[in-house]
Amino acid sequence: MKLCRFQPLVFQTPPSRKETSVRPEILLGRIEQDSVRQLEGDLFSGWSPTERIWPLSEVKFLPPSAPSKIVCVGRNYREHAAELGNEVPAEPLIFLKPPSAILAPEEAIVLPAISKRVDYEGEIAVIIGRTCSKLGRTENPLSYIAGVTCLNDVTARDLQKSDGQWTRGKGFDTFCPFGPVLETELNLAEATIETYVNGKKKQSSCAAEMIFSVDVIICWISNVMTLVPGDVIATGTPSGIAPLAPGDVVEVVVGGVGTLRNPVVAESD
Ligand code: ZN
Repeated sequence: MKLCRFQPLVFQTPPSRKETSVRPEILLGRIEQDSVRQLEGDLFSGWSPTERIWPLSEVKFLPPSAPSKIVCVGRNYREHAAELGNEVPAEPLIFLKPPSAILAPEEAIVLPAISKRVDYEGEIAVIIGRTCSKLGRTENPLSYIAGVTCLNDVTARDLQKSDGQWTRGKGFDTFCPFGPVLETELNLAEATIETYVNGKKKQSSCAAEMIFSVDVIICWISNVMTLVPGDVIATGTPSGIAPLAPGDVVEVVVGGVGTLRNPVVAESD
């Protein structure tokens, strides 16, 4: 089942309110073939279907959650660690991206003028469905996941290297596109990940190639920080990263989930 957050693509401003900026509300939905059935409630604590149906062509997909934090795993694929000249970590290497970096599908990744090299990193991401903290060996970490989505861990590689720590290189506005949907029934062990730039395949791997599997990662993170519903965990990028240029279109495809597509623009000054 594919769940989403969306807005009507064509929003009609009521005539009497033309002078004020009216934002369309965020709606919840379930994909049904060529349409989205509107839901009421909460994607994580409980929802029910309504009678309202939207054609896919009339909705703008938003990231499928509004997380309190985005926790990422670095160097979780052997060949990616090698392509940047890094050792494989002995324990999961985690870092955060700020929620202010979140970007919706189809919106533009902005290349900051201060960076000379901004890379894409296509990743399989999971969204937490239940609060979890300090998971022990007897608990199943996968039972805390609501589902799987696509994420692009956009990275200013030069700033990541020169700073030594990663907050700036990973944290610019627009550097965390994810979506378009939350797939609730994917077998994570069989998940595949591909990244395309301008239609050319640049990355291709699968969850089975991860150094630390998703259950190990969730257990590890939960022993550091409490994970709450909506939190996003990006599980690392495979080899094949490369810089983006203005005018590029980057697509992250998780098999069975969908395609996260974003154009790329230069910062205008
Ligand atoms: Zn990454």
